[in-house]
Amino acid sequence: MTRVGIVGGGQLGMMLAEAGARIGIECTTLDPTPDSPASRVARAIVGAYADEVALAELAAGADVVTYEFENVPVASAHFLAERVEVFPPPESLEFAQDRLLEKTLFTEVGLQVAPFAPVSSEEDLDEAMEDVGFPSILKTRRLGYDGKGQVRLTSPDGSTDAWRAVGEVPSILEAHVPFDRELSILGVRGLDGRAAFYPLVENVHRDGILRTSTAPASGVTSELQAAAERHALVLMERLGHVGVLAIELFETGDGLFANEMAPRVHNSGHWTIEGAATSQFENHLRAICGMELGPTAPSAYSAMVNLIGSMPDPGVFPSLPGVHLHAYGKQERPGRKLGHVTVVDEDREALERSLQLVTRSAGV
Ligand code: AMP
Repeated sequence: MTRVGIVGGGQLGMMLAEAGARIGIECTTLDPTPDSPASRVARAIVGAYADEVALAELAAGADVVTYEFENVPVASAHFLAERVEVFPPPESLEFAQDRLLEKTLFTEVGLQVAPFAPVSSEEDLDEAMEDVGFPSILKTRRLGYDGKGQVRLTSPDGSTDAWRAVGEVPSILEAHVPFDRELSILGVRGLDGRAAFYPLVENVHRDGILRTSTAPASGVTSELQAAAERHALVLMERLGHVGVLAIELFETGDGLFANEMAPRVHNSGHWTIEGAATSQFENHLRAICGMELGPTAPSAYSAMVNLIGSMPDPGVFPSLPGVHLHAYGKQERPGRKLGHVTVVDEDREALERSLQLVTRSAGV
């Protein structure tokens, strides 16, 4: 049996372990919290992500190690890579952890990005505002997620406050993109270099946090899908990436703009558990274990709703065919992702009706 170590024991680690159990892959997770979501379904090592004793234990019990979040310390990834195979490669982490490197890489592979400028001081910010204009967003280069570490700017007046608000750390100023909608593309690349892609997904965010994903996104032309796949492939090849990679995109009248990437399984791919021939979790494991990738075609229309901040009682969800609840077993906290519901239906209008029932009964 192949043994996979996962750095991180959140819901993504939990769903990786669940997918692994079904296909004979045994997962062990490393997480600082003793009651992590993944600890409910997999062996769990409790330790900090930089704890070399814990990392060595994870490596010793695994044939291959992966991660479920992109802010794994790069030094820990290298420490692991000296002892065991690590996929995706640490290079994917390095680019995904730094918005400046990431945006520069997007440009190199031909993906459009919003005009941006690096900012290392308040003076830089004043200069960047002249180049980038308004409205714009000041984002920390590192450790930003779900809209954290971001400040919107509408005029030069707010520069001192904005620089303070991001903590006076290296950042980028980025133009606001007046997008029609947000999309994401999920690709997966195997050890042999073969790649597969899921259909473009439409995502709705509120307060910087993903609320719903609809798959496949409506009205996507084959040209648009092909363009997104082409860019994702070049990116994965450039990084030597193995495993799932997600790119968050803005769709505009001038085509797709890349916002950010995640070198891991992604919230906008949760629908694939029930809505695609092979889930993103299984395909990530298949890729890093050197197995042939599973087919990625959607089996129907899917919509996924995140349950954020408070977890409704499981009994409130309507008992309808195609409605699937996932609870992560986490403590309630404002803004925290506690679970999700996926609704699958062969008919788009019926899907819409079920989705409304689900969101109304769950109060989301
Ligand atoms: P991020 O943390 O970069 O993924 O940003 C979270 C969300 O904020 C995105 O999904 C968008 O909804 C919004 N956002 C971020 N950057 C931009 C931008 N340059 N233009 C418009 N909306 C943005």
